[in-house]
Amino acid sequence: MVQILTASEAKKSILKNTFVIDSTEELELKNGLSRVCAKTIICPIDVPSYTNSAMDGYAINVDNARKRQTSASLWNRAPEKIKIIGKATAGHPYYGDFNEDAAIQIMTGAIVPAGYDTVVINEDVTVSNGNLNIKEFPKKGGNIREAGEDLRKGEVCISKHKTLTAADLGLLASVGISKISVFKKPKVAIFSTGDEIKNPNESLSVGQIYDSNRFSLAGMLQKIGMDIIDLGIIPDNPIMLKKILGNASSSSDALITTGGVSVGERDYMKTVLNEIGKILFWKIKIKPGRPFTFGSIDKSMYFGLPGNPVSSMVTFSQFVMPSLIKLSGAQPQETFFLPAKAAGEIRKIKGRTEYQRGIYEKKENGSYWVKPAEDQGSGILNSMSRANCIIHLTDELSNVKKGESVLIEPFMANKVLN
Ligand code: AMP
Ligand code: MG
Repeated sequence: MVQILTASEAKKSILKNTFVIDSTEELELKNGLSRVCAKTIICPIDVPSYTNSAMDGYAINVDNARKRQTSASLWNRAPEKIKIIGKATAGHPYYGDFNEDAAIQIMTGAIVPAGYDTVVINEDVTVSNGNLNIKEFPKKGGNIREAGEDLRKGEVCISKHKTLTAADLGLLASVGISKISVFKKPKVAIFSTGDEIKNPNESLSVGQIYDSNRFSLAGMLQKIGMDIIDLGIIPDNPIMLKKILGNASSSSDALITTGGVSVGERDYMKTVLNEIGKILFWKIKIKPGRPFTFGSIDKSMYFGLPGNPVSSMVTFSQFVMPSLIKLSGAQPQETFFLPAKAAGEIRKIKGRTEYQRGIYEKKENGSYWVKPAEDQGSGILNSMSRANCIIHLTDELSNVKKGESVLIEPFMANKVLN
């Protein structure tokens, strides 16, 4: 058993040992946001299903209309009339005859009557006595949306494994789909360990602290759409830990605990895991979060995160999240990196990956500059709360000089389009 891995070895090992959930459920489309599509959806109709006008104006046969107006001015005769013989509005088609020399008044979204090939917009015409005078001719086919130009019947509309966005919900509705098959949310059981850990609504005795990990963890799990089973706080008691973990493993796809994975006298998680499950590794060459344990209990994956609040958040975001995304049936997400210049020296020890909390900003010339948050202690949650990025400093790097480029992982993203 290899016990200390590099960051990239640990990531690979975790993903290799992550299965994909196979149970699915059917949902109303309106409840499908951020759920993972379990079946490729084929488009049952053309979208739009009929050729329609993209603008308010007049449907014409452009060659005929042009001929009528040009020949009239060439021969210095009164212009030939382009008569307006009808009207089509959205939802109310024009059912009259086609006359190639005439025009139909048309509104956005209305069916373009057969025989007409172009729409000239209101701004480019004058109308007198029911006749149309075109000031500026559009090109043939102008201002018309062809049937099927968005999606064609039989085409793939949404692929299996896609996480549904707001646009996807609209797209599925646009082809008349009202129910969807999605992967069930993975069940993730969490608990905090430690004799000193108390709930925020309890009073603290000497030597006790409030549980922050379970709240940060639940927040991150919610963001990636997991079904959370909150098992509370369990004391440093191997018998209890064994019992709770054993029970939880049969009702969850993944188990995440914080604390008790180091080498202290009362760090029982590894011993317990050895007895009731399997340890794959328990150390990674990283900072923060070196004592990170990965293994399994029955069919459930087990992640033992360090107790320090920042270590648990960072290791979750870098090692657990990609695994849970895979477990949920979703496509893997590439980490989004932005190059930024170091605003001062960044101290770093070679031979391990460091994830430093950073604060970046955009300068007037468009370049990004980053400085590490002031206190990088792995218990300082305040600096995590103030940070807006993680500075990724890979194994081979040592101290970074002011002005050198580093890769940052910004926290922000487009919240509504994603
Ligand atoms: P451990 O990994 O159990 O040795 O814990 C490392 C440090 O993190 C200790 O100072 C613990 O008191 C602290 N800690 C452990 N669990 C939590 C928690 N749930 N919330 C806040 N701090 C914690
Ligand atoms: Mg502890």
